[in-house]
Amino acid sequence: MKKIIPFSLLLALCSSCATTKDAVTLDNSDPNKYMATITASDLKTHLYIVAADSMEGRETGSEGQKKAGKYLISQYQKNDISYPKAAQSFYQTVPAEFLNKKYGENLNDSQNIWAFIEGSEKPDEVIVISAHYDHVGIKNGDIYNGADDDGSGTVALLEIAQAFATAKKEGHGPKRSIMFFHATGEEHGLLGSSYYSDNPLYPFQNTVTDINIDMIGRRDVAHANSNNYVYLIGADRLSSDLDAICTLANAKYTKMDLDYKYNDKADPNHFYERSDHYNFAKHGIPSVFLFNGVHADYHKKSDTVDKIEFDALTKRTQLAFTIAWELANRESRPVVDKQ
Ligand SMILES: [Zn+2]
Repeated sequence: MKKIIPFSLLLALCSSCATTKDAVTLDNSDPNKYMATITASDLKTHLYIVAADSMEGRETGSEGQKKAGKYLISQYQKNDISYPKAAQSFYQTVPAEFLNKKYGENLNDSQNIWAFIEGSEKPDEVIVISAHYDHVGIKNGDIYNGADDDGSGTVALLEIAQAFATAKKEGHGPKRSIMFFHATGEEHGLLGSSYYSDNPLYPFQNTVTDINIDMIGRRDVAHANSNNYVYLIGADRLSSDLDAICTLANAKYTKMDLDYKYNDKADPNHFYERSDHYNFAKHGIPSVFLFNGVHADYHKKSDTVDKIEFDALTKRTQLAFTIAWELANRESRPVVDKQ
């Protein structure tokens, strides 16, 4: 039987067409309202779950990591955010064979997790926001919770995604697409992001930027007197535009001290090569890494949630959000002008 649409419903449909059309041309110049949805209390709720003992330190391929992954997916679903259209599910399986290729650590199959918000005007241009959700598991019976490394970045992604989803529901969706990418196997040598870079879902020429977040909930000894800072690493390595966007977003919205110490190519720590953005940067994708520096609990069982400074975690998450907002909505994508 053919469905007959009543006249009144047609009218309603037309008026909603008009609204949608208006929404596309709406001004996305002010992210303040959505930035404000990123709160310390939400981050805290998520992190007490992601870094709980029940997640068993989220070792790559473990049951605990899978459980954490299921929680992440449940939060995307709660916010009506789906996996990328080009994918079959929220998971990109990273086979054990790939994970064990380098060091033969006998890891099980594991998964990268991805979620996606489609852009309204340039859907084929994708901004990746990444954080690894694996940690180092259980050693000698002690659970390594990895609250800062990288529970902090993991929950930041959830809050950033929710902020973009809320904006989209109100007609202020991003003009470019955004992929939220939870990498596995980072602690074993950036393996999940390496697998992605061998098997990308979107062509690299359409991947605008990677904003990578790894450890943003604590402070280091160099900033003992204030947590109002973040290290920015890599922003200017491939694109002066990306660096300018980061600086502008911070000056307008979050007003932290941007510390470029570890951006120095001569710095012996070489942090630029030590987290997942590097697997994007090596393919010529402008990438920036947000980081709080190392502290006494780094890779120790004492990296626990009670030590997280949620005011700092909130501001750094908001900075990542406003950088992404600017990248998603500005006229042109950042130009690669450096080698
Ligand atoms: Zn990490």
